[in-house]
Amino acid sequence: MSVLFLLIALCSPFNFIQSPMDFGPLNFLQTSDSAAIDFGRIFFNSPSAILQPNSVDEISLLLKFISLSSYSKVTVAARGAGHSIHGQAQAPNGIVIEMDSLPLSLKIHRKGKRDEGYSYADVSGGALWIEVLRESLKHGLAPRSWTDYLYLSVGGTLSNAGISGQTFKHGPQISNVLKLDVITGTGEIVRCSPSKRAELFYGVLGGLGQFGIITSARIVLEDAPHKVKWVRAFYDDFGAFTEDQEMLVSMADKVDYVEGFMVLNEQSLEGASVAFPSHFHFIASNTNNTSQVYYCVEIAFYYYSQKASHVEKVAKETLRKLDCIPSLVYETEVSYFDFLNRVSAEEANLRARGLWEVAHPWLNMFVPRSQIKAFKDLLLQTISPDHFEGPILIYPIRRDKWNGNTSAVLPEDKENILYIVGMLRSASPQCVSESPCLQSYLQQNNKITEGATSISLHSNSKIQIADPNGQDHELETISGSDSLKRSDLGGKLYLSYYSEEEHWKKHFGGKWERFLARKKMFDPLQILAPGQRIFKRKY
Ligand code: FAD
Repeated sequence: MSVLFLLIALCSPFNFIQSPMDFGPLNFLQTSDSAAIDFGRIFFNSPSAILQPNSVDEISLLLKFISLSSYSKVTVAARGAGHSIHGQAQAPNGIVIEMDSLPLSLKIHRKGKRDEGYSYADVSGGALWIEVLRESLKHGLAPRSWTDYLYLSVGGTLSNAGISGQTFKHGPQISNVLKLDVITGTGEIVRCSPSKRAELFYGVLGGLGQFGIITSARIVLEDAPHKVKWVRAFYDDFGAFTEDQEMLVSMADKVDYVEGFMVLNEQSLEGASVAFPSHFHFIASNTNNTSQVYYCVEIAFYYYSQKASHVEKVAKETLRKLDCIPSLVYETEVSYFDFLNRVSAEEANLRARGLWEVAHPWLNMFVPRSQIKAFKDLLLQTISPDHFEGPILIYPIRRDKWNGNTSAVLPEDKENILYIVGMLRSASPQCVSESPCLQSYLQQNNKITEGATSISLHSNSKIQIADPNGQDHELETISGSDSLKRSDLGGKLYLSYYSEEEHWKKHFGGKWERFLARKKMFDPLQILAPGQRIFKRKY
């Protein structure tokens, strides 16, 4: 392998960053190596080389070279913002391509009044959503489907789905793409859309980076609202909370955003203190029962050019229908930019508390509507609610806003409404080095995964983790099934991270055969996105 790297490094125009001393893999276990780590800080896999491409052609040339070098086992991972949790953008001993090195391209097209179709943005795959927002707002436009956090890359979220409180109305981000430029595993540069090379287009959307590297995407834009009425309503009853959420997502003509979260303890509200300061101590002042779980629905109404009084009226009528705790409804008004960029305030808060650059044993699950209460019970039985650090998001989305041809996986029941639950836990800085708490969090995640899906994580797997000082540790993540009655709730992991083929097969269910066929077609040597641990590199 070192011969390959020497060959490439010496004979090509690529700009490799690596140890000047040695091309061998051992030399790359460096803590300064950002490509070896991600937001999760659980997996730590060094690449042998990092490519910072100056052009799309360089990526194509690299993949062509690797495909033709049949003696080599090298793999390649595109890295967007590196905000994966489980090493998905890593390439153990392979090559990481830093997509933010490609020249940023952001072109906005506003459709004329009489034109059919959409306004759109043509953006490079490594662009961050915050950059797309800033540029499109200059033209009075904005994408309509978002993620909660905007410092993620376009290519990275389109490889998953891209979901947030607008998903019930506009579908995930992958439902809002008109065209893609992709480089396949064989180095072919392809422009694809629903009508041209559609198999590649749909395969790449939600395709976990398996079929090609997205170098450009055409994203649907709409007129941007200038202001947002942002409401939080609190509940002490889970049934009332979910019933109201389901009512709200059936009112897509009136409501622009619906999310929800669990309030397990006072920290659950800390990150949100910027926009809603008055919430802060309501638990302490409202109840002596510290183990009471509350729920919060978040709703947004967008102000466009119509009169503010119209939005006020719609909001008032909508809020009147809610079955929440009447004294615990809070409203604020913020600019559209601040609303979409709200998590950056939480980021600042967590950074200040030393809780941003820590391990993040997150778990995201799509859950059938009929099983959401059972899932919530499973979750509360498994974690320790009093000490949980981080938000637990729960909100409904609508299946009819997803295109079944994409590679994204949803529960296989037939109901139109389903839930996304995001258990976004932070581990304290001491967690990895001083106690086995990270291991126990990962075991809890396994228990919940086993309880909610048909997948039995029977094998004990060892993973490499990095502590806050960058030191490597080996961690055993044993299955949690011993203490849990298996009860397949029909859930499907989002941002999934299985490591065995049988688990992936069950995860994809009826979509597995098509996923396999697409892999054979577009990346036959299984070079791309090894960090997803779905396929092993072929010779
Ligand atoms: P990376 O971690 O860099 O890559 C992820 C995967 O995509 C890897 O397999 C990689 O090889 C592949 N990839 C990257 N770029 C490309 C490309 N150009 N072409 C092909 N494949 C590529 N998700 C949501 O849906 N909604 C949310 O609200 C949300 N909020 C989040 C908040 C935070 C703080 C964090 C850390 C994550 C959040 N996520 C959310 C998850 C996020 O969407 C995914 O982790 C996404 O992959 C991150 O994008 P990235 O650019 O960091 O991807």
